[in-house]
Amino acid sequence: MSNREPAFPITEKAYAKLNISLDVTARRPDGYHDMLMLMQTISICDELTIQPERDGLVHAVTSLPYVPGDKRNLAVRAALKFLELVDDGERGMKISLRKSIPVGAGMAGGSADAAAVLRALNRAYGDPLSARELCAAGEEVGSDVAFCLLGGTALASGRGEILQPLKALPPCAFVVCKPDFSISTPELFRKLDEAKLSCHPDTEGLLDALEKSDLDGLCRRMYNVFEDVPDRRMRTIRAAKGALLDCGALGALMTGTGSAVFGVFRDAAAAEKACETLKREYRFCRTAEAVGALL
Ligand code: ATP
Repeated sequence: MSNREPAFPITEKAYAKLNISLDVTARRPDGYHDMLMLMQTISICDELTIQPERDGLVHAVTSLPYVPGDKRNLAVRAALKFLELVDDGERGMKISLRKSIPVGAGMAGGSADAAAVLRALNRAYGDPLSARELCAAGEEVGSDVAFCLLGGTALASGRGEILQPLKALPPCAFVVCKPDFSISTPELFRKLDEAKLSCHPDTEGLLDALEKSDLDGLCRRMYNVFEDVPDRRMRTIRAAKGALLDCGALGALMTGTGSAVFGVFRDAAAAEKACETLKREYRFCRTAEAVGALL
């Protein structure tokens, strides 16, 4: 049992991610896929508050009726994992999630919440776990949790848990739009397995452009292999990308397995202007900026 009494309430922000690129390089014998992804943390975030609960149970409450509050919630799983690691398994907690990250959007909302719980609890307990130990705990909760813990700009490989921190993106701003449907990640992986991919992102070229802080070079090379999966919904995704480009985006891409699509703009003013126009068409349409390392 940890001898330090954590100071409640604990608050933390859970930042969403965007995929600047997404490649699937192999299907592994364990059923997972090998990925190669250039990832970026952005300012769209959920807000978490953790309070003690006398009954010894860990549960989550959210404003969204379709997000579960039990162990299916990644934030709950992360808290249970942390309490196990610090030998404080009798502790009860209520995790209140003010969700702003859309669900089923490819923005790693659940993983971001899990990472925020791990970061916040570790801080509140006086940092008993190292960054490496926190990432290992995160990996057990979900493939994107380690990235969400570290934050910033990184190249993710393996299942997404092998991370190489990178130089920050050159100055830019984002507009994120989500069509009115969500896409299930397992379903899109199944479709990808049945499809033959002939195009892949130029990851080397992306890393080179990043090194040179060449925003146009980055935008030209943004690519997500999931956009090539035969699925009717990709027509809507292409239309959203077209709308962003028509509003002045330097590049536009679907993030993760969708359905959110984002555009990269030279500055916040250009992003705001595009967002004003696109809000008429997309119920979820927000500007965002890049966020640096979190750990
Ligand atoms: P990814 O980018 O990692 O594929 P996503 O953004 O597409 O994720 P999420 O928003 O994380 O998807 O949610 C996917 C599923 O996870 C939903 O069905 C939801 O019920 C469940 N879920 C579990 N925990 C959470 C959470 N804390 N917030 C939102 N959804 C959660």
